[in-house]
Amino acid sequence: MFGDRPWIIAGPCSAETLDQTLDTAKQLAANGIRVFRAGIWKPRTRPGNFEGVGEVGLEWLKQVKMETGMFTSVEVANAKHVWDAIRGGVDMLWIGARTTANPFTMQEIADSLRGCNIPVLVKNPVNPDVELWIGAIERLESAGLTQIGAIHRGFSSYEKILYRNAPIWQMPIELKRRRPELPIICDPSHIAGKREYLKEISQKALDLNVDGLMIEAHRNPDEAWSDAKQQLTPAALKQMLSELVVRKVTPENVSMEDLNELRYQIDQIDGDLIALLQKRMGVSVKIGEYKKAAGMTILQQQRWDSMLAKYNKIALENNLEPKMVETIFRAIHQASINVQNKIVNE
Ligand code: PEP
Ligand code: MN
Repeated sequence: MFGDRPWIIAGPCSAETLDQTLDTAKQLAANGIRVFRAGIWKPRTRPGNFEGVGEVGLEWLKQVKMETGMFTSVEVANAKHVWDAIRGGVDMLWIGARTTANPFTMQEIADSLRGCNIPVLVKNPVNPDVELWIGAIERLESAGLTQIGAIHRGFSSYEKILYRNAPIWQMPIELKRRRPELPIICDPSHIAGKREYLKEISQKALDLNVDGLMIEAHRNPDEAWSDAKQQLTPAALKQMLSELVVRKVTPENVSMEDLNELRYQIDQIDGDLIALLQKRMGVSVKIGEYKKAAGMTILQQQRWDSMLAKYNKIALENNLEPKMVETIFRAIHQASINVQNKIVNE
């Protein structure tokens, strides 16, 4: 189904009409896209929004396949969707983020797929829980499926963030570490929420060595019935793809010697950092003993406030990302509290 990496899957968020689906597909096919996506059952946050055209969309996808030769894919969210999609001749299925998060639904889908080895891509659950993501994949594997991939589409977050869904890159990195054989595809559209961010997210995903990208494309994005702000025209998609740089893990004809020397330096520095952390923890223990003898609380709020403010200033002065420095010191502080807590209660 897929040619060279990165694999590209593109198509509208939703199939809306036969004309919109077929016209978008033809433009994409003319630009070399080989795998088409279109949602026909749409999980929407609030009722009353467009919830997909349903089964009739399968006929449109058949027509896409016949007239363009593209492979087709659709989202399924229950057993009936699975049966309809398979009977309708769809080439690949994907599981939406809200569905991955629900073990009952995942089991229902897995059971309905038993004996049918169609490729299935599993989006990450809406919440950043790698176990839930792996669990959904395992349910499909237990049903005998062997052509499984994962899609990173970002995670919903309570805090207001730049993107629609927080990418939390450590999640796909951890999935890859745990299941190195699984292909991972990034869906920059649902991470971005706005088309202006698609390129930077796609480039970052490629630099983390994803196997492919699933991107929403529509012949007239502004008029789309769902996710209008994040879709690209087929022409804009072609342009964006041509601007992405595809790097290799180990390019040919490149000596690893210089890189290995730099990695050696990094290992030495990491060793120094560990030794310093150990020394710092030793001082923390002494402070804990002092607080115990003095009958003091472990948390001294004023001291912690002033430390946080100081680290922020030092980070900026040293050209370090303040967020990184803060995260590190919050973790160190928590470890210090844990150790002192043990001491005062011994
Ligand atoms: C989609 O791909 O159109 C979709 C609904 O995605 P997600 O499950 O990532 O929200
Ligand atoms: Mn969408």
